[in-house]
Amino acid sequence: MRDFDLLQPKNLSDALDALAQNNSAIRPLAGGTDMLVDIRAKRAAPDVLVSLQNVSELRGITRENGALKIGAATTIAEFLKHPELAKHDALRQAAYVFANPMIRNTATIGGNIGSASPAADMLPPLLAFDAQIELVSQNETRLMPLSEFFLAPRKTARHANELVARIHLPIPGDASFVVRPSSSVASAFYKLGLRQADAISIVSVAVWLQRDGEKIRDVRIALGAVAPRPMRAIRAQEILRGEIFNETNLKESARIASEECSPIDDLRARANYRGRMIAVYVRRMLEQAWSKTQ
Ligand SMILES: Cc1cc2nc3c(=O)[nH]c(=O)nc-3n(C[C@H](O)[C@H](O)[C@H](O)COP(=O)(O)OP(=O)(O)OC[C@H]3O[C@@H](n4cnc5c(N)ncnc54)[C@H](O)[C@@H]3O)c2cc1C
Repeated sequence: MRDFDLLQPKNLSDALDALAQNNSAIRPLAGGTDMLVDIRAKRAAPDVLVSLQNVSELRGITRENGALKIGAATTIAEFLKHPELAKHDALRQAAYVFANPMIRNTATIGGNIGSASPAADMLPPLLAFDAQIELVSQNETRLMPLSEFFLAPRKTARHANELVARIHLPIPGDASFVVRPSSSVASAFYKLGLRQADAISIVSVAVWLQRDGEKIRDVRIALGAVAPRPMRAIRAQEILRGEIFNETNLKESARIASEECSPIDDLRARANYRGRMIAVYVRRMLEQAWSKTQ
């Protein structure tokens, strides 16, 4: 394995100081479950890694101003145990099928975002929940919709001197989340892999919807592993908004979602199969989310 220096700052300010050297060969290190694999495989060659392990400001989940604020260094296992997640079904389901217990104890949510893999499991549900990310540097804090963060496979809008500090998630049922009394919200997630655990997604689908009587008041559909970056199926959402939840509308939305994505052939599956599975699972996740609403 290539040599690198490891910095172990004790707080956020020291971590940001280290990154402010603004050297492109310096990179954050969270759980290392992607980064160390990438270094071994020669996909990454940092001279310096800044470990976030001791940076307590980046850990934990809090509730503030109508949003859940998730520290980027929160592990998937910590995330899974948190009671607030019960209200974010799609995220809980994604964390539940993430890798294996050993990786879940180490891998972080910020690392999943930082890796910017099109197949990263937490990203479709975060997109479906309209998550925003808080990027911090020595001099600035900026909030960005997660949907704008991914530029290409493994490329993000993060500046070299920035860290993803927290993820902001709206809380269903919170006053600022504007839910009408006659409607309710629900979400669902599915990951299709070649086996039940420790599998890289062939496709993944996350759906969030808000019901109003027999109509879909609002809906968000997000797809993983079928485009250069995790994506929202914008047209598939549009045709459902304000419409009756019925067979025809579901079928059409699922068809459009599979048209909107641009999967590739790889060793896990053919592009054509991925497109067909998107149609199947978009429809199933819409049905599943709907069945949880009242
Ligand atoms: C055996 C195995 C199974 C896996 N299974 C899955 C799976 O089922 N689903 C899945 O989605 N992934 C899986 N992965 C990939 C990996 O575990 C995840 O992507 C994980 O979330 C990465 O988190 P980490 O904390 O280990 O990140 P690291 O490896 O430390 O970092 C990943 C990237 O994010 C950057 N980064 C980390 N933290 C921050 C931050 N706060 N701000 C800015 N940039 C940051 C790093 O610089 C690096 O570029 C698996 C990996 C292994 C080895």
